[in-house]
This record gives sequence, C-alpha cells and structure tokens, in this order.
Amino acid sequence: MTDLKIRGLAKAYGPGAAAVLDGLDLTVPGGTLAAVLGPSGCGKTTLLRIIAGFLRADAGTITLGEHTLCGPGVHLPPERRRIGIVPQEGALFPHLSVARNVAFGLAGLDRSARRRRVGEMLDLVGLAGYGDRMPHELSGGQQQRIALARALAPQPQLVLLDEPFNALDSALRTGVRADVRAALRATGATAVLVTHDQQEALSTADLVAVVRHGQVAQCATPEEVYRRPADPWVAGFVGDAVVVAGTADQAVAETPLGRVPLANAAGGLREGLVLLRPEQLRLTDPASAQALGTVREVRFYGHDAMVTVAIDGMTDPVDVRVPGAAPLNPGSRTGLTVAGEATFHPGPV
Ligand code: ATP
Repeated sequence: MTDLKIRGLAKAYGPGAAAVLDGLDLTVPGGTLAAVLGPSGCGKTTLLRIIAGFLRADAGTITLGEHTLCGPGVHLPPERRRIGIVPQEGALFPHLSVARNVAFGLAGLDRSARRRRVGEMLDLVGLAGYGDRMPHELSGGQQQRIALARALAPQPQLVLLDEPFNALDSALRTGVRADVRAALRATGATAVLVTHDQQEALSTADLVAVVRHGQVAQCATPEEVYRRPADPWVAGFVGDAVVVAGTADQAVAETPLGRVPLANAAGGLREGLVLLRPEQLRLTDPASAQALGTVREVRFYGHDAMVTVAIDGMTDPVDVRVPGAAPLNPGSRTGLTVAGEATFHPGPV
C-alpha cells in the first residue's frame, strides 16, 4: 500500500495568469480512495494531470511511496509513474476487443500470463466472459468497468479516476460506483477520484478533499466533512446547510433557534456562525418548541421533503428536512427544535 503525498503544489497557466493551484497539500494514505471535490474551475483536472505527469507544476512536490514523481529538478515521465487512469466516457479503444483493451498495458507479460491477468481483471469488475465483445457492444456502465479493469491490470500503485461516472444515468451510476469501489478495495490500490458531485464524493470515498481556490479547504472522512465542516463555505458546498448567527459560551450557543449544543467548544464568550444540517431541525408543536415560525415553502423530493420556515425575529428563513411528505402547508404556524450538535465558527456575523 502506497501513500500519495502532495506538498505546496502550485500551477498557473502562463506567466502573470492567476494561480489555479496555490500551494495545495494533500495526503492520501495507501489503500485509501480519496475524492477531490470542488466547484467547476477550481483546479481538479489540473491537479489530476500534474499527478499523472501530463502537466508540469510550477512548484511543489508529489511523492508516491518512496518515489518522487515531481519536485525541484524532478519530473518522472507519465509512463514511469505506475499510475492507472480511468478517464471520462469513451475511453476504450473502439477497434480492440474488451480483452485486448484490458491487456493494453501488459506488454511485459508473456501470452499466458497476460490472458490470466485479463481473466482476473474481468472477474474483478464482474464482467467475466465479456472478453470477446467489442466496446460498442457494452453498456455505458460496463464500459466504465472495463476502463477500470484496464487501469488496474498492470498493478498500478495509484489509480486516478477523472469524473468516471458522468455519462451514466443516475440509476446506473449508483451500482457502477459501488462496483468500482469494491474492485479498488479488493486490489488495495490507492485512488484519487475527481468529481464535482457531492453525493458521489460522500457515498464513494474514504476521504473527501474539498478544493477551493487551488487549495484543500478540508480533507476528512465523508462523515466529518458533512457533520463538522471546516467553514460555512464547505458546509454549503457539501450539502444543504442551515447557518444562523449565535453567541457561544464554551459548548453551547444561544441562537434564534434556541440553545444549541456545540461539537467544538468555543472557548469563552464569542460571536460567530452556527452550522446545522436541515435534518437536525424538527417541526414540533409550538407549545414544546425552541423557536416559532411560519412555513413559507414546501419542496417534495419523494424520499423526503424540504420545508422552508421563516423564524419569528430572524431575517433569513431556514430549511427543515422531513422524511416523506411534509406535514404542513405554506402559511401554517409551527414550532421548531434542534437535534444533535452544531459546529461553531467564530468571527463577524
Ligand atoms: P471542471 O469541474 O469544470 O472540469 P476543474 O476543477 O477540473 O473544472 P480545471 O480544468 O483544472 O478545473 O481548470 C482550472 C482553471 O484553469 C480554469 O479556470 C480553467 O479555465 C483554467 N485552465 C485549464 N486548462 C487550461 C489551459 N490549458 N490553459 C489555460 N487555462 C486553463
């Protein structure tokens, strides 16, 4: 198992251009699948291309296990990096059979070893027996699994996945993600998945690195990034957020939603922002509520609904997620309580 370590990575496309990567640090422990998550244009593809060796960084170092891939005076060519790449859609060679696609990086093996390895890889991605098919005879999901098999066949130390599920419809995507994750786990490969899809990052990866302005704003487990976001921007980027002003005193904050316990002690009396998730808010009987308000809007999503409530005395409304259908209509009065702990971010409100 091989650690990937990135330190101080910087890149601008040309002299005088704005920095795309601005001193980015990231550690991916061996055998871990890390998602690099960020808005469009934040530098995800640039990062992936530098790791792969297709693009040179202006500064910084990348090491994979014992090997320096790039650093001051060092630039290992892509073919010597032992990195497998799963690109976006359409990545298979259309004129080669599935077996030949998977065998593409196995030139160093003799014929029988190559055939054995191809068989193992097709097994791994659940497509044993598909070796003689041509790529156009596969579904989109099957094509992506073959692309993974091809990337894994030469036993790379690192696998880079560049938005590999983009072209798949949402029903298929969930299954293919799970298959890809299981195949990566089975090989123990370290992997970096680039995505702008929050659900994909949270549901697929062991670690989520949220990138903003060319730096990692937070790198932690999906649960940690979601429940304990590093700041209000990360909170809003990885999911729906409820952000209210509050005055914290140690592990409790006074807010317009009542007293809220904090996961991170504030250390004395401080003003700041209190972050919650909509599923932490509950609609209740006004008699037993921490706050009162009026329902403004209801959005139904099938498995749950989002109820927007204007809280008495608060300027901005808050969102409350309820399972199934919403129990109230716009215009109804409601009580509100908070469940669980919030994250506190000191600073001007
Ligand atoms: P997306 O999610 O939209 O693919 P991204 O996070 O992958 O975005 P990059 O493709 O790395 O972002 O691009 C980061 C920034 O660098 C963008 O502002 C982009 O316009 C710019 N950029 C990318 N490639 C080049 C290039 N070859 N020359 C000049 N600017 C570039």
